Amino acid sequence: MIPILDLQQQYEEIRAQTEKEVLKVLSSGRYILGENVKKLEENFANYTGTERAVGVASGTDALHIALRAFDIGPKDEVITVSFTFIATAEAISYVGAKPVFADINPDTFNLDINELEKKITPKTKAIIPVHLYGQPVDMDPVIEIAKKYNLYIIEDCAQSAGATYKGQKTGSFGDVGCFSFFPTKNFGAAGDGGIITTKSNYIAERIISLRNHGSHIRYCHTEIGLNSRLDEIQAAVLNVKFPHIDSWNFKRREAAYFYNELFSDIKDIETPIELDNTKCIYHQYTVKVPQRDKVHEFLKENGVMSMIYYPVPVHLQEAYRNLGLQKGYLPHTEKVSENVLSLPIFPEITRDQQKKVADELIKAVNRVTCLK
Ligand SMILES: *Cc1c(COP(=O)(O)O)cnc(C)c1O
Repeated sequence: MIPILDLQQQYEEIRAQTEKEVLKVLSSGRYILGENVKKLEENFANYTGTERAVGVASGTDALHIALRAFDIGPKDEVITVSFTFIATAEAISYVGAKPVFADINPDTFNLDINELEKKITPKTKAIIPVHLYGQPVDMDPVIEIAKKYNLYIIEDCAQSAGATYKGQKTGSFGDVGCFSFFPTKNFGAAGDGGIITTKSNYIAERIISLRNHGSHIRYCHTEIGLNSRLDEIQAAVLNVKFPHIDSWNFKRREAAYFYNELFSDIKDIETPIELDNTKCIYHQYTVKVPQRDKVHEFLKENGVMSMIYYPVPVHLQEAYRNLGLQKGYLPHTEKVSENVLSLPIFPEITRDQQKKVADELIKAVNRVTCLK
């Protein structure tokens, strides 16, 4: 079976150093907010081209805390996409605000700028662009609209660590960037974790307080905060992985281009596009195919894992039934969610594995188009 990703193989590359660093934390007796978190925060701010980075307990918490840091709450609206992992919307709901969903551009899978502007009301306080699959959102028009309507930009960078737009890293365009270290992300820990990047010292300090029970000074609480710190052990793992981010992302890109070549003559397999001024990091390599569910099954029967991110858009989830949004509300989002299929991609994937994936996908697509 060709896996969708292979964390064990990656671990072998960094095993010796990881085990040394993790054991050091264990014997140090310092498990929360120590040297490892500090080092990661400094390196990550520097890497993304921001001033500050603050480690938190997950990518979901990163989004939640960011919204709190801008005092977004009940009566406010936050615009994002429905074609994302549900956490993007959940964070908005946690602060009592209303998620408002704009449709996507079906070619980039990302926020459609024209749809974004249509959704703005006097209650809109922020925009959360999601750099889905590691493809940067076209940020210039987003920034322009945010300025025009005086909105905060909270980038959801959970899938885009290291991706660039006009030479600049995602997470450095908005007021804050929110990253996830969930193990399957392209820069993942050995458990949950996340980080928030920002150029504002004021916001960074507010986040530092919010992640630690609303407190800067022990037992002095200026507001109701969260318990949302990044663990030292997780930071130690991430510090070992940190020097590899770019080379691992580079290998993902190479693998993506190889898939593009393998599918170049197949008209029923639509390969992902990359905008001219962006560097995608292919957190996912996602194609569009006809009769996707059947293709997905055929692949599995023939030894190739594939995944569907995401089969049901957020606005049609049971959890958001209270919004009263019906099928047909976001046509591009709904259409794409029926066609997308993510193929195995990870830095260590071999060309032979990719050829096998491509062979099986082409066979599967031929089979479903004949069956029609
Ligand atoms: C993974 C993910 C999150 C949530 O991150 P966690 O660390 O799992 O909480 C948020 N947004 C997107 C787009 C994600 O892919």
